[in-house]
Amino acid sequence: MSILRSGEMLPSREGRGAVLFRGEERTGCSGCLEEPRPDREVRGRSLLPVERPLGRSEDLTEGRFERVMGMQTLDKIIAQMVYRPSTLSYPPLLPKAEGEVACSAGGGGIILPMFEIVFLGTSASAPSAKRGLSSQIVKHDEFRFLIDCGEGTQRQILQSGIGFKNLNHILVTHGHLDHILGLAGLLSTFMRWETIDEMNIYSGRWALDRIHDLLYGVVLRGGQAPMTLNLHEVKPGVFFESDNFSISAFPVFHRGSDSLGFRFEERSRRPFLPEKAEELGVPPGPVRRDLVEGKTIQLEDGRKVHPEDVLGPLKPGVCLVHIGDAGRTEDLIAPCQGADALVIESTYLEEEAEMARKFSHLTAKMAAELAAQAGVRQLILTHLSRRYREKDVLAEAQPIFPNVRVARDFDVFSIKQEG
Ligand SMILES: [Zn+2]
Ligand SMILES: [Zn+2]
Repeated sequence: MSILRSGEMLPSREGRGAVLFRGEERTGCSGCLEEPRPDREVRGRSLLPVERPLGRSEDLTEGRFERVMGMQTLDKIIAQMVYRPSTLSYPPLLPKAEGEVACSAGGGGIILPMFEIVFLGTSASAPSAKRGLSSQIVKHDEFRFLIDCGEGTQRQILQSGIGFKNLNHILVTHGHLDHILGLAGLLSTFMRWETIDEMNIYSGRWALDRIHDLLYGVVLRGGQAPMTLNLHEVKPGVFFESDNFSISAFPVFHRGSDSLGFRFEERSRRPFLPEKAEELGVPPGPVRRDLVEGKTIQLEDGRKVHPEDVLGPLKPGVCLVHIGDAGRTEDLIAPCQGADALVIESTYLEEEAEMARKFSHLTAKMAAELAAQAGVRQLILTHLSRRYREKDVLAEAQPIFPNVRVARDFDVFSIKQEG
C-alpha cells in the first residue's frame, strides 16, 4: 500500500481491459434499497479491469488527481512535510522511502499532514463480482477508522493488506444492512482468531440499536465479547479528537435512518522549514523538535534560534468529508464547505432520478452539484449501482465538477495540503 515508492510506475488506468457481460441481473435490496430489476436484460457494460492490482494509489495534491510515481512527487511531498514532536510508538504507515526522507530531513518526529482513504467496498445495496459492500478505512497518523462495514468487509481488509491492527474505531453512517452486516463477521473472527483490545463503534441511535441486536443478539447471545466493546451514540458535533485532528458528525437525510456524515479535519499548523533550519545551522535532532514545540534553543556557538525563525505561516489542515447514503443535498452544502476531498454516494444516474428520489439516494449529477456548490477540491463517488458503467457515472458528473473520480475496491487516495 505504498504511495511513495520512488521510481516505481503504477499501472495506468488507460487501456485496461474491459469485460463485457450480458444477462439477467437482479438488483437486490438488503436494507439500502434500489429498485429490483428481475425482468430486464442488463445492457452490456464494462466491469472493473481484470488486471487491476491491489493498492493503486493516487495523489490528490494540488487539486488534481495525480498518479503517484517517481521522485517528482516525492520531492513535492517532502516540501509539504512538517516537523513535529512525536512520541508515537506505532509502526509507520508510510513505506520505507518516506522514513528515509524523514531521517535525511532531520531524523524522527516528521510526519506527513494528510489523510489516506482506502476503499474496501464500493457497491450499493448488494455486492457485484468486482465490488464489495460499503466499507472504507480512513488513516491518519497511527489512527485507522473503518467507516461502515458491509458484508464481506473482513475479507476485503485482509485482501487490501491492511490487516486488523489498530482497527478499533468503527464509524457507521447508518444502520441499513448493506452497511453493518460485516460487523457480525468481524466480531466472530475476533472471538476466535484475531486479538484486539478494544472496539469502539460510533453511530446514531437507530443504527446502534440494530448493531446491538446483531452483535449481542445474534453473535454473542449472552456470551462475552472478546474485547472491550463500546457502542457510542453520536450526535451532531465533534465526537473524536486527537492532538492532530478532529472528527465531527452532521445529520444526513436518508430514508429516516438517522444517518450521519463525518468531517475529518486536521488542526491548523505552522510547517517546519528545513531549509531555514539548515541556513541557521540548526542540527537535526531534538533541538528541532524543541523549536516546533515553541521553545527558543541555543546553538553550540551561543547563537539563539527562535521558533518563528524556522516555522512558516499558519496553514489550515487538510479536510476530508465522508457521506454515506443520502436522499438530498441542500442541507449538506455547509458541512462539506471547502473540504479538500468529498466522498459521497452516487447510486443512480439522472435517467432514473425518480427512482433515486423514491429510494432516497443521489444521482451522479446531484453529487457533482453538491461538490461544486460546497467548493470542495476533489470529489470521489462510491456506492454505485451494479446497473451502471463507471464511465457513464463519470460522464454525468464531470461536466458539472471536473475533478471527480469513481472509487473502485482497493483504491487508495491520499488527501494532502495544496502546494
Ligand atoms: Zn447503502
Ligand atoms: Zn442506506
